[in-house]
Amino acid sequence: MSKLKTNNNLIKEIQYWKKKREAVILAHNYQIPEVQDIADFVGDSLELSQQAAKTDAKIIIFCGVHFMAESAAIFSPQKTVLIPDLKAGCSLAASITAQELRKWKKQYPKAVVVTYVNTSAEVKAESDYCCTSTNAVKIVNSLPSNQEILFVPDMFLGDYVAKMTGRKNMIIYPGECHVHARVRPQDITHKMDEHPKAEFLIHPECGCVSTCMHYVAAGDIPVRQLADKTHILSTGGMMKYAKSSAASEYVVATETGILYRLKKENPKKNFIPLRDDMVCQFMKMITLPKLLNSLKNLEFEVKVPKEIADRARIPIERMQQLSN
Ligand code: SF4
Repeated sequence: MSKLKTNNNLIKEIQYWKKKREAVILAHNYQIPEVQDIADFVGDSLELSQQAAKTDAKIIIFCGVHFMAESAAIFSPQKTVLIPDLKAGCSLAASITAQELRKWKKQYPKAVVVTYVNTSAEVKAESDYCCTSTNAVKIVNSLPSNQEILFVPDMFLGDYVAKMTGRKNMIIYPGECHVHARVRPQDITHKMDEHPKAEFLIHPECGCVSTCMHYVAAGDIPVRQLADKTHILSTGGMMKYAKSSAASEYVVATETGILYRLKKENPKKNFIPLRDDMVCQFMKMITLPKLLNSLKNLEFEVKVPKEIADRARIPIERMQQLSN
C-alpha cells in the first residue's frame, strides 16, 4: 500500500477514535507534519496546555515531549493526559532532577529559583518562578535587583538573561539541550552570507536556540550582518512577522519542525533552517501509528501527583501574573 493511502487510513481511524474518546489532540510546533496536520491545536507547550484546559475534552493527547504532557496534567487535573510515546523525553529537562535542585538550593538559602518551563513537574514544584525564553528577561527584571537568583536549567538562556538584565547575582545551572549544542556563531554568519537579503528569525520557545540568543547578547555575531535583521520572536510573533514583512527569505534559528507551519502559511516565501540537523529526535518519536495506539488503548498516561501539581502550579501562575 502507498504511504499516502496508509496515512489516509490512519487519519480516518484517528478521527474515529478521537471522537469516540472525546479527546483533543495537541501538537507541538516541532512535531512531524502529519501529526501537526491532524492536531486540534498546534503551538508552544504552555499555550497548548492552556487551550486544552478550556475544552470539554475528557482526554488530552499531547504530541510533544514528557514535561509538556505534565504541564497539561497540571492545568487539567480532571482530564486524562496521554503521550503517544513515553520515551519522548527532553535532554534539557533531564539536565536536573528535583533532588539535585534541592541540594543546590541548600547551598544558596537566600536565593529564589527561576526555572525555565522545560523542566519536570517535580523541578517546577521546587521553584519560585517559572519563565519561558520569551519572558525570562521580564521575569528576572521584576525581582529586586539585590535578590540572588538560581537559574535552572538552561545555561545559555541563563547567560543571555544575565547579560540582558546586567545582573551579577544570577547563579546559572549548567544544563543544556542537545539540539542547541550544535549551533555555533559561524553557522549564523555563513548562512547569512549565503542569503544576504534574508531576515534572521530566532524562535526561543525551546532550548534549541538559546545559544543563538546567547551569541547575540555576547556580541559574537558581527553586527554588520544582523543589525535590523534579527528578530527574537514567539511562535505567534514569528507567524505574524513572516506574513507582514516584505522580505521574501528568512533564515530561521529553531528546531526545523516549525518551518512546516511557516511554509504552509506563507507558500510564496522561502524559509531556510539555520542548520538542517537542528532536529529534536524526541519530538520526532511521535508518529501517526503511535497516536492511533494512544487513542485506542489509552496509552501512555502521564500523571502528576496532586501535591506536586499544586506546588508546580504556583511558579507558573507567578510567571503568568508577572508577564501580563
Ligand atoms: S529541542 Fe531540546 S529543549 Fe526542546 S524538547 Fe527537544 S531536547 Fe528538549
